[in-house]
Amino acid sequence: MHRTADVSSRGLLLGLAMLALAVPLYLFLPLSEVQHQVLYQLIAGLAVAIGFLGLRHHRPQRRRGWFLLLLGASGWVVGDLVWAAEQSLIPGRYPAPSDAFYLSAYVALGAGALMFVRGRSGGRDVAAFLDAAIVTVGAAVLVGVFLVVPLAADSSLSLVVKVMSAAYPLADLFLLGVIARMYSAAGARTASFQLLAAALTLTLVADSAYEFAFLSLDQSSFYWIDCFWLIAYLLLAAAACVPSMKELDDAGPDRSNPIPTRGRLLALAGGLMLPGAALLVDGATDGEIDWPVIGIGTLLLSGLVLFRMDGLLNTVQDQSVRLTALARSDFLTGAPNRRTWDHELPRACKLSRERDTTLCVAILDLDRFKAFNDSHGHQAGDRLLQDAVKAWTEVLPAEALLARYGGEEFAVLMLGLTAADLVRVLHRLRSVTPGGQTFSAGVAVWDPHTEPGAAVASADEALYAAKRAGRDRIFVHGQPVSAITADRLLPAFTILTQPIIDVATSSVAGHEALARFTGLESHSAVEDVFRRAHAAGDGDLLELAAIRAAIDLPGRPQGQDLFVNVSARAIVSERFIAGLPIHLSGVVVELSEDPDGVDPEAVLASVAVLRARGARIALDDVGAGSHEFARLATLRPDVLKVDRSLVAGCSTDAARTAVLLALLTYAHRLDLTVCAEGVEEVDDLLHLAELGVTHVQGLLLAAPGQSWSPQVPLVIGPNRFQRPSAPETVW
Ligand code: GH3
Ligand code: MG
Ligand code: MG
Repeated sequence: MHRTADVSSRGLLLGLAMLALAVPLYLFLPLSEVQHQVLYQLIAGLAVAIGFLGLRHHRPQRRRGWFLLLLGASGWVVGDLVWAAEQSLIPGRYPAPSDAFYLSAYVALGAGALMFVRGRSGGRDVAAFLDAAIVTVGAAVLVGVFLVVPLAADSSLSLVVKVMSAAYPLADLFLLGVIARMYSAAGARTASFQLLAAALTLTLVADSAYEFAFLSLDQSSFYWIDCFWLIAYLLLAAAACVPSMKELDDAGPDRSNPIPTRGRLLALAGGLMLPGAALLVDGATDGEIDWPVIGIGTLLLSGLVLFRMDGLLNTVQDQSVRLTALARSDFLTGAPNRRTWDHELPRACKLSRERDTTLCVAILDLDRFKAFNDSHGHQAGDRLLQDAVKAWTEVLPAEALLARYGGEEFAVLMLGLTAADLVRVLHRLRSVTPGGQTFSAGVAVWDPHTEPGAAVASADEALYAAKRAGRDRIFVHGQPVSAITADRLLPAFTILTQPIIDVATSSVAGHEALARFTGLESHSAVEDVFRRAHAAGDGDLLELAAIRAAIDLPGRPQGQDLFVNVSARAIVSERFIAGLPIHLSGVVVELSEDPDGVDPEAVLASVAVLRARGARIALDDVGAGSHEFARLATLRPDVLKVDRSLVAGCSTDAARTAVLLALLTYAHRLDLTVCAEGVEEVDDLLHLAELGVTHVQGLLLAAPGQSWSPQVPLVIGPNRFQRPSAPETVW
């Protein structure tokens, strides 16, 4: 099918080539006037017919443009026939019917070409339109000054003759506008496009030459001019026969480029110079200057050029804005990139010096991201980076800058705030990092006596310390690890753990972590340190530091819970919640009694957050406080830790036993664990076991120590009790 199509297309082009061979015959054979006319009509008529065959053969999608083009060419052929008839019937008559055919042919031809232009530029291309208008208006000044105005001023001519004579140059001006519009529009310069443009240009040249020869009465050049027209017919027909005729109104890959090429600039310069040239020639030849046409033309051109420049400037500005944005942001995540960081950091350092304020930087690095890529694929990794940046950006304060520093490393910069503030911001970022992904970060305060890069190096050092310490944490450069915030000194403490024994299996179910301060052994002294820290506004940080230290204790046995103590005042602190690890499964938060002044709703909200992160909730010191029955109902803890005041001496006390039974009934109904604290007597232990208490803790079983208690069987029977053997895992 394709093959035959090609063959037919080639056949048509071959026919045109043979017709082209007849053109020199027209020029050089000694033929009579009539023979010349017949040969001319034959070549032109056959060429147009072949053009129609090409249209029929190729069946382009939008054939109306081609039809108009060929109709225009036919108009000329018919016009020539009519003209020949006029020569014998009404010789010398002007205007004659043939003029109607000739002139309407221009309209059809121009309309056809413009239809293609509209398809190619997608309808709206102001810059291309202006370019074509500039060239056309420049030429219009010439046509006006040298053809139209002299015609109008010639008193020997009738009005009809004046109008008809001016119509031809104006038709050619229209043709010039069409050609300029074809070249200024976007779209591929296919063979068909080039042939069509050449045909129109040749027509324009021949018309102008004819006009010139006619005015100078140089009859000898008419055969040459006829040849130009004939070649124009052939080129137009060829444009309709080549296969690319089907794509003439395709926009092609290079849609409008608003920046003019050098060739286009030359054409524009030519158009702009024409009024000046007309002025010079006009003044030099007869001394009379056609000022209205030249003046109007110049003003019009100035307006067009201004309009064009305005569009160009807008485009250049738009592009520069877009380029700057592209150059400054990271391609994958849209975050400011390393180049922006390198530009902004010294600027921030300068500002920090000038304003005498602090400048803090942080480097954060996703944890084990290579493993994430390996298990989920690189694309999922990319998506996570994008989602993380999106989530972080939403919670980042306006005064902070977050940049993608490298692969999965990001840098944050904050001016005028403390390292503690930046740590808080980073904890906020941790809490919104998607997909359970964690990161480690190092924070550093810039020392104004050093280079900007020194702050990054220090932050990097802290980051690597955070990685070494187990990841998923934030370290501040030059600060002790336990000091979670940089600007407050927290007392030094150690963490002890006390085992909690499952009565039924006689094994260690978990450990309670207890903070101990140097030189302070008693329980009340420890409580006093926390009380004073809370009074100074640091209690939540101290509790957080203690919990983090407990969670970070090495070697925690698998499957055992870690019980940590939290006061109501700490649990409602935002920085406390933000500072806790994201994943808290295996952690039981022991909530002590509500002190006055803490909003119970806020406590419940924090409890919900911690539960969502995998923590379980225990109610501490049950039996020692005053409102706990109300709290048992609202808080719905997972574990009840029965206070030592209910435990001590319970084996011989009916009232304590009754309260214990009530608690056990409650716990049984809600499927809770009950753990008795402060068990120091064998009798009490046995009594608790008989009552149905499932977990016990106390000096009788094991004192708090610096080790994880091993899974040593502890046999509790009606008359037997055995202590666990010596601890083995010591830190
Ligand atoms: P660590 O916790 O020590 O930081 O471990 P890590 O695996 O995150 O660190 P490492 O430096 O070994 O690997 C970084 C990985 O980050 C390697 C690379 O696959 C991944 N990564 C870096 N840039 C991109 C990125 O643009 N897209 C994706 N999908 N992965 C990236
Ligand atoms: Mg890395
Ligand atoms: Mg990493």
